[in-house]
Amino acid sequence: MSTEQSKLEHQLALLHQQYLARLQDEIPELARQVSALAALPQKLNWRDEIKGLKFKLHTLAGSAGTFGFPALGRISKNLELELRNWMESPAAPAVEQIRDFITLFQQVHQAYQASHHVLSVTSSQLQKQSGRHASIYVLEAQADISGFIELTLTSFGYQVKTATSVAELKQLVDAQIPDALVLDISPAADAEDGLGFVARLQSTQKEPIPVLILSEQDGFGLHLAAVRVGAQGYFVKPVNTTMLEARLQRLLAIRSREAFRVLIVDDDQLLAEHYALVLQGAGLRAEILADPTKIYDSLNRFHPDVVLLDVNMPYCTGPELAQLIRLSDQWLSVPIIYLSSETDSERQLAALVKGGDDFLTKPMTDTALIVAVFARAQRARQLADMMTKDSLTGLLQHARVKEQLTYELQRADRTGVAVSTVMIDIDLFKKVNDSYGHPVGDQVISSLANLLKQQLRKIDIVGRYGGEEYLLILSDCTKEQAFTVVEQLRKAFAAIPFSYADGHFNCTFSAGISQWHSGLDTEQFIEQADQALYQAKHAGRNRTMVFDAKKT
Ligand code: GH3
Ligand code: MG
Ligand code: MG
Repeated sequence: MSTEQSKLEHQLALLHQQYLARLQDEIPELARQVSALAALPQKLNWRDEIKGLKFKLHTLAGSAGTFGFPALGRISKNLELELRNWMESPAAPAVEQIRDFITLFQQVHQAYQASHHVLSVTSSQLQKQSGRHASIYVLEAQADISGFIELTLTSFGYQVKTATSVAELKQLVDAQIPDALVLDISPAADAEDGLGFVARLQSTQKEPIPVLILSEQDGFGLHLAAVRVGAQGYFVKPVNTTMLEARLQRLLAIRSREAFRVLIVDDDQLLAEHYALVLQGAGLRAEILADPTKIYDSLNRFHPDVVLLDVNMPYCTGPELAQLIRLSDQWLSVPIIYLSSETDSERQLAALVKGGDDFLTKPMTDTALIVAVFARAQRARQLADMMTKDSLTGLLQHARVKEQLTYELQRADRTGVAVSTVMIDIDLFKKVNDSYGHPVGDQVISSLANLLKQQLRKIDIVGRYGGEEYLLILSDCTKEQAFTVVEQLRKAFAAIPFSYADGHFNCTFSAGISQWHSGLDTEQFIEQADQALYQAKHAGRNRTMVFDAKKT
């Protein structure tokens, strides 16, 4: 068992304990309220008397199942439904009805005492997080080709090891399993060896290792053989190495995709914490909002992919909160899933039409929660990407990156953290288009985007600002630190060989850096980086300049 998992199970067990402690207080209090029902027929305001009890039973019905007391949950649900019947009838309940109710309530005690439960979350749902740069093994007999691949991939920041034979590759794999494999299956004599080796290797892995195939030949039979060993790319020689890298990055990005973010709004703190732990156990990020009036702060700061919303809360209802979220265009597309112990389908529908997308009925199993949230989050992320990202590079579009910059500056204003911005422009790019054609130019643009994605930190923001212009937002980063980072990027980019029909060529970029100080708005801030970029171009290109107020 991984330490992460045992930690999670420990936390779940702790929550379970806390819940037990809460029941110890709550059930006697409930019993007191239930026994007071005997006096109900004499009371004029009998409906008000029932209301509080009904709400408590409702909460209990929703939470008990989740914390391992399913029988308790069911009984509470029945009791709650009975109280609802009473409230909907014109006259106060009869003495017999109340007596039956009190008898039924005895079962709550029994169920509570009888239940014991161990909580667990399956380890396969624990997502592995790897911060290091991916390690790639390349099987390639021809030294010039393997050298070329190695040069390209190391420029992008991968750790590359090359083998010239299956036996050599086996030695590497025995020492450590790579994040991905690049396998040349020509000449045909070696193909069977190579593919056979990979097939055996894959059968020992829990998750298949991404494999890219290089070959001199093409054809259905070879493609099929490749697919059968888990190949996710097939490149015919001469290999376009930047396209190979782009494929590799996409495959690895799927594996280490940023965790989905889930905002949980539930007035039952323990239950909310349980959901959060279950979702965290499945590799998602979860945050709990206890105070609904802070909903906009939470949305702006946490950027959830999904919102989980309790239907019945004391201050305002779930559907009301959903409508609040939908008031602004910005949160129109974030999926809202209601959580409720509500079983009345008409009420569910009424809640759904008010801005929600889905409904989960408490108590739900941990797996049901994970599956529902995951499916919604994935769809939402895809849609959001399509709306905000540039299609060639997958980077944020012009308007979006400026929007992000504005948020970052507001944050910096509050926290005092240093923010630097970088404007990058590829040098003499018109010549690239003219000499090698527009499609090759496109490849250069997307390769630089990939390099930026690969080398920068997760918290850095990268946008395609114009045709061959990029805007970086580096948070918690001074201009001196930014300079070091950008210089590394510049050298790496200059080293990447780009293929065209008859050979390869290299490209360079120029960059301008500016560090924010308070009082500077988004436009002025970008303008400073742009001025520094202009100076870099003027000074001969292929260099990085930092904005200096004294020089303007
Ligand atoms: P400089 O070093 O001064 O930046 O020279 P430059 O040739 O790069 O000049 P400039 O930045 O003005 O030229 C940008 C060129 O990039 C013009 C345009 O045809 C080309 N371009 C813009 N968007 C794309 C694109 O999406 N794909 C391709 N292939 N070319 C593009
Ligand atoms: Mg340019
Ligand atoms: Mg330009």
